[in-house]
Amino acid sequence: MQKYKIAIVGSGIIGMTLALQLSAINYINITLFGKQPKYSEFKTTAILATSFDIYKRLLDLNESHPQISKLKKFKIIDELKTKKKIIDFDAAEIDLDSFAYNIRDNFLADRLHKEIKNNTSIIFKNEFIEGLQDNLNKTILNTSDGSAEFDLVIGADGRNSIIRELAAINYSKKTYKESILVTEIIHSIPNKNTSFEIHRNGSLLTSVPTSNRKSAIVMIDTAEKIDNIDPDNLNKIIHDGLSTYLGNTTVSDKYSIFPSETINAEKLYRNRVMLVGESAHVIPPIGAQGLNLGLRDIITFYDLLSDSNAKDPGAKTILSSYNNMRWLDIYKRYKSVNLLYQSMMNNNVGYSALRNIGFLTLNKSRTVRNILLTEGLSFNK
Ligand SMILES: Cc1cc2nc3c(=O)[nH]c(=O)nc-3n(C[C@H](O)[C@H](O)[C@H](O)COP(=O)(O)OP(=O)(O)OC[C@H]3O[C@@H](n4cnc5c(N)ncnc54)[C@H](O)[C@@H]3O)c2cc1C
Repeated sequence: MQKYKIAIVGSGIIGMTLALQLSAINYINITLFGKQPKYSEFKTTAILATSFDIYKRLLDLNESHPQISKLKKFKIIDELKTKKKIIDFDAAEIDLDSFAYNIRDNFLADRLHKEIKNNTSIIFKNEFIEGLQDNLNKTILNTSDGSAEFDLVIGADGRNSIIRELAAINYSKKTYKESILVTEIIHSIPNKNTSFEIHRNGSLLTSVPTSNRKSAIVMIDTAEKIDNIDPDNLNKIIHDGLSTYLGNTTVSDKYSIFPSETINAEKLYRNRVMLVGESAHVIPPIGAQGLNLGLRDIITFYDLLSDSNAKDPGAKTILSSYNNMRWLDIYKRYKSVNLLYQSMMNNNVGYSALRNIGFLTLNKSRTVRNILLTEGLSFNK
């Protein structure tokens, strides 16, 4: 049987997950380009319950693994006005055990890397891509070591994707005026698998369980404030925001800072090149959507290849179907998460009105809550 050759550029969480998923198809050879990733030690990702199955299958990972924390409840606390408004969500409302499973990026990346090393269908090349020539018939990739030809090249090389640039796929990018700080706290009151989200004027402070008395922190505020923050100030902000719910908090003396930005590729393919994960879409880290969107890119492409009679993975019919099947989901998340983000960070009257209506409706209407919860979990695509 003819074997088709796929190159995956980028061995981040999405690139490695894609490589393992595609290795189940027997008529393709996979070459994965990139270095073993090292993420910030505090960076965790909440993987939605609806997406977690992929890791049960590929890594034999169980939700009860000690490195995974269940996210069963979340509490949104709006401190924008003088009177606090609080909304509670419980996974039990929609008959789920948990909304999501929170996992350290480094733990997941190490597990994926180990599995890839043991997988004989994947060639791992510890090389970075430097050039690409593509047309409708073939794609050639260049590294410092030489060049090779593929039937399909998949860009999984993250938000600054070189593959997106080299394939001349247009995209829009916006850098917000905020920065994102991630760190971890130890707290005296157990979190009981609850994530807390404190909304203040132009800032957001979120805690996500990493164990019973430890939570990851994601803090979004103006770049000016975050980039120059000192440990005492950070301690105070976290204590003021979370001590009502988590008791005494001790903040790690280390943290990482990310820019707050959003990217949307106009199209997910060109010739024999396609994009997955953050090379195609970046959204602000609210509502646990970013990686989950990338996991749905992977499942969609895998299902498409497995079900198709046209085996050539770089054929236009396959790539345009992938684009059409993913477009609406990406567009909906991109629009809704950015609107939500701007309503949280912006003090403009229109956005505040939107927030107030949202809060009122969310507290009163069970139907709206259910729609939001199931949409957030992507049951209705
Ligand atoms: C603070 C924060 C919190 C988040 N929380 C969540 C959450 O709770 N839930 C959620 O779903 N998502 C979340 N996200 C989003 C999620 O982290 C990302 O969507 C995900 O990590 C992106 O993975 P990726 O593999 O697409 O990109 P990356 O992790 O950036 O991987 C890209 C890889 O490509 C490699 N590469 C780059 N250039 C080349 C080249 N030329 N040749 C070869 N390799 C190359 C890089 O070295 C890197 O290893 C969060 C993001 C942030 C910033």
